[in-house]
Amino acid sequence: MKAPKSCVVVGAGLTGATAASELAQQGFQVRVYEQADVVGGHVRSEWIRGIPYEPHGAHIFHTRDTAVWQLVSKFTDFVPYQHRVTIRVRSHHLSWPLQRCELPQLEEWSEVEQELASLPHKPDSTNFGTYCRSLMGETLYNLCVRNYTLKQWGRAPEELSASVAANRVELRDDGYRGLFRDPHQGWPERGYADLVEALLEPAEIHLGQQITCSDLAQLTRPGEPVVITSALDDFFSGELGPLEWRGVRLESKFIPDVRLAQSSMVVNEPDLAVPWTRTIETKWALEKLHDTPGTVVMREYPGASAKHYPVPDSAGINRALQASYEAKLAAYTRNPLMAAGRLATYSYINMDQAVRQGLDAARHIVEAH
Ligand SMILES: Cc1cc2nc3c(=O)[nH]c(=O)nc-3n(C[C@H](O)[C@H](O)[C@H](O)COP(=O)(O)OP(=O)(O)OC[C@H]3O[C@@H](n4cnc5c(N)ncnc54)[C@H](O)[C@@H]3O)c2cc1C
Repeated sequence: MKAPKSCVVVGAGLTGATAASELAQQGFQVRVYEQADVVGGHVRSEWIRGIPYEPHGAHIFHTRDTAVWQLVSKFTDFVPYQHRVTIRVRSHHLSWPLQRCELPQLEEWSEVEQELASLPHKPDSTNFGTYCRSLMGETLYNLCVRNYTLKQWGRAPEELSASVAANRVELRDDGYRGLFRDPHQGWPERGYADLVEALLEPAEIHLGQQITCSDLAQLTRPGEPVVITSALDDFFSGELGPLEWRGVRLESKFIPDVRLAQSSMVVNEPDLAVPWTRTIETKWALEKLHDTPGTVVMREYPGASAKHYPVPDSAGINRALQASYEAKLAAYTRNPLMAAGRLATYSYINMDQAVRQGLDAARHIVEAH
């Protein structure tokens, strides 16, 4: 009799859960190994007295990938939510991305106006600092970007690659105040755990198991495919040195009696005297709760040891180390190994890209079989 098709997934975040779901759908027996004692990875939502909050930071599902949207909507119900961010500059709450029409309220408007009139046609992509200065002028850069970046990344904007600006920094004059422009945007009505647990339903889950390459001989049979969604330096026990990450720490506080505590779900705090980078009120995502008393506001502090943001240093050192780990992965012959997701590819990806990468990894395995 032919052995059943089987495979292993390392990590039960959104990428691993999607790969597991798709592979199970295609007739594979799937074993998922997760180091934490809960599934979901970075995408988590919790509830205090019926009010949602996200212990790892605000997550809004947004995508142009209709197949991905249809897939996640099959596993949980999304409510429409168009995400808005504001930035606090002293007593001013400005839209983020900045809107030109709101800028005259700033005390620095005359300098800002002159600088905006003499911007180059194309931003200077030498590094993140030059990019932002040439996009919005020195004054706005100093008010909104420089100190926020120092807090968020722990380094000067000039030490970061201009790629950091993509999808983060814009100067708008179209009056559109949503952060994202994707046609599909929403928040899962019952939270993200509902989505991830539904995806993982057909898989065999092993919690509390941190997997490295040396475990594969014991956990897998030769030739059994493995989808890796953990960081590759962890997977190879740091053999080539550690990859650099920037992490955040969140502190949540339940505020009774208040319906909504702030001007938008996320408020950025560029002031260096304020130790947190932003405050988050997830309740904004669920309109049906807006009249319910009680809310949760989280402060996001930078500089935690967690692996949240890969560091795109302008010299490209981290990228080169990741490439060396990828070469090690490709040279492994006992099992076909596939890296997918934000940790294993050392990249900042949104949830829709995580789902897409999970689907692609599953498709490769199915096609190879
Ligand atoms: C602060 C912040 C806010 C974000 N906001 C948004 C947003 O609004 N919208 C959006 O689309 N995206 C957002 N993202 C991105 C989103 O979090 C990611 O796209 C998503 O979490 C990627 O899922 P993943 O499965 O690849 O990684 P993860 O969620 O990190 O899952 C990896 C899993 O692998 C496990 N693991 C790691 N190593 C091992 C090991 N050795 N053995 C076993 N298990 C292991 C981990 O415990 C984890 O459960 C945000 C990211 C951050 C940092």
